[in-house]
Amino acid sequence: MEWQAKHRPMRPEILNKLFATVTSLPGIGDKLGRLVAKLTGEHVVDLLWHLPYGVIDRRYSPKVAEAGPGSVATITLTVTEHQAPRTPRQPYRVWCEDETGSLSLVFFHARVAWVQGLLPIGEQRVVSGRIEMYNGQPQITHPDHIVTLAEREKLARVEPVYGLTGGLTAKPLAKAIEAALERAPALPEWLDPAWQKRQGWTDWLTALKAVHHPQTEADLDKSSPARQRLAFDELLASQLAITLVRNHTRTAAGRSVKGDGRLRVKVMAALPFKLTASQDAAVREIIADMAAPQRMARLLQGDVGSGKTVVALMSMLNAVEAGAQAALMAPTELLARQHHATMAPLAASAGVQLALLTGRDTAKRKRELLAGLENGSIDLVVGTHALVQDDVAFRDLALTVIDEQHRFGVEQRLALAAKGVAVDLLAMTATPIPRTLMLAAYGDLDTSKLTEKPAGRKPIDTRTIALDRLGEVVAGIGRRLAAGARVYWVCPLIEESEITDLAAAEERHGQLSRQFPGKVALIHGQMKSAERDAAMAAFVEGRAQILVATTVIEVGVDVPAATVMVIEHAERFGLAQLHQLRGRVGRGNEASTCLLLFGAPLGETARARLAIMRETEDGFRIAEEDLKLRGAGELLGTRQSGLPEMRLADLAVHAELLQAARDDARLIVERDPTLASPRGEALRTLLYLFARDAAVRTLRSG
Ligand code: ADP
Ligand code: MG
Repeated sequence: MEWQAKHRPMRPEILNKLFATVTSLPGIGDKLGRLVAKLTGEHVVDLLWHLPYGVIDRRYSPKVAEAGPGSVATITLTVTEHQAPRTPRQPYRVWCEDETGSLSLVFFHARVAWVQGLLPIGEQRVVSGRIEMYNGQPQITHPDHIVTLAEREKLARVEPVYGLTGGLTAKPLAKAIEAALERAPALPEWLDPAWQKRQGWTDWLTALKAVHHPQTEADLDKSSPARQRLAFDELLASQLAITLVRNHTRTAAGRSVKGDGRLRVKVMAALPFKLTASQDAAVREIIADMAAPQRMARLLQGDVGSGKTVVALMSMLNAVEAGAQAALMAPTELLARQHHATMAPLAASAGVQLALLTGRDTAKRKRELLAGLENGSIDLVVGTHALVQDDVAFRDLALTVIDEQHRFGVEQRLALAAKGVAVDLLAMTATPIPRTLMLAAYGDLDTSKLTEKPAGRKPIDTRTIALDRLGEVVAGIGRRLAAGARVYWVCPLIEESEITDLAAAEERHGQLSRQFPGKVALIHGQMKSAERDAAMAAFVEGRAQILVATTVIEVGVDVPAATVMVIEHAERFGLAQLHQLRGRVGRGNEASTCLLLFGAPLGETARARLAIMRETEDGFRIAEEDLKLRGAGELLGTRQSGLPEMRLADLAVHAELLQAARDDARLIVERDPTLASPRGEALRTLLYLFARDAAVRTLRSG
């Protein structure tokens, strides 16, 4: 993006080697590099963050006669005989011995030349692997290591065990990580000395090496000192980044935006409903924030269907009443269009000019739009990230609203805010986030919460059904269709790959179409947006009664007439995601049903998770339970959660460290807001180390 190019971060020299691609490491070519990148990330630093989950102790070095079956042993042997298989099903066997007895090494499907090169007859080799007994004789099948005597020292130690991915084996990954560790420089200390001393923590590099060279199982524990230190570093980087961005927004001169309510009154009168008490309260909080001389940075949290859009509209109208403009940015074109469609008649009723800006406008239309925004004849604009493009300028932008804000990076938010003077920010999210995670992701942002659903909503009847009863489900759907129902049918996420997900959705679409000809539409992420709009429109207008979808419908789609949600392989979705999907129904006055189809047999956790979905519709409760069942690591790991990914910290274990990091970050920003002190310099390095570049930029742009 152009905007980024202009503001190229100045990463400290000392980190450059860590931010080179993994193929810059010795022994990592393109093929291995791709696998490593897929597993850990494409930069050398990503390898450092890939911590071992197990240890193999190779220090046990018995004689052959003493070697205990089942144990991992490292034994010095002399090769005596190669025994080729007589049938293809038999393994290739190499006989070895020491002065106490003989042992064979077993290779299935091995390349003979390779084995012969590795184990020449008459020579000594050090072999490590698990001892098995076969016909009363010890053997090792596919030894983990075979080295010469000279390399013995390197082998007979405790070896870290790393998580792998398909096609990547343990040895090259371990070598790559070792090479990355060699590249890791000693870094200036960013910790507060008193705190570090109290915790008994070593410096960063020592801790990093300790974590990658565990000596015992205990060293793998997340509460071991070295792991704690690294976790704290990550938490401090993230809290400091949040605090800096926040401080930047706060201290930059604000403005008081005070509408007189004349437009809001008109729109209120045009609304077919009354605001709920919590919508009302949220609007009042936002209006008060906008009137205050500081810049607003407020998060509006509200479960799906709680009615955030109209709160956003009221806030935007407040800006127009004060003579300024407002913009709403949505993560997808579908959502931007939908917001525009909802808001357009309301805006019209107040005589307010509302425009839609997506990447799809014709050149002529776009020119008109841009001119309207610049000369102020357009009051409100709804759009996608097309809004942050360089050629978009406003006469006087006073408020930006970011819908599903976690889908945007800090850069995009800052870029949109930069299009006005002292722009207020209202971020919206439908992801219910447990408190600890909230703190980790956003620090203590001002929040408004929509806690009640609009009146008249009926509870959703949620059921779990094994997929092998699909026939019955389809028959049931048939009866609902006859009664005029509209049905979402969400197809499973197979491997987060658009292509495979798509195949599943297309197949289901085909099958349902044969059953219910002319009534089924398909929507997925690979479609052109015009096709997608057409499918959506058919569903909204009721020409199609079933909408088969991949998870593209997940965010924000609003079709109040839809009353049935079918989710295939519900056990593969995160709870937050299921909750989001289920929130697509139950939006009108009619009773709705959600069918969670699962592939049997279900594991214990999966069963418990689906049970929660049956039990409650409270998004916050669901999020808390999910956190308990899956652990913060996984919740944070999922892109769906909208939370920044933590590589080293696990909030289920490190909650106290999070609190400490937050306190530390505040103190730092209070005392040294530009990070100018020597510790401040070190902290900048920390921010870059954890790729929080955007936060450092706020320091320079003042
Ligand atoms: P979300 O918070 O998920 O973005 P929306 O803003 O899309 O929710 O609102 C969901 C639906 O509820 C919309 O159809 C909207 O018109 C309707 N709605 C919003 N507020 C109210 C209310 N106070 N009373 C009745 N319906 C409402
Ligand atoms: Mg919404």
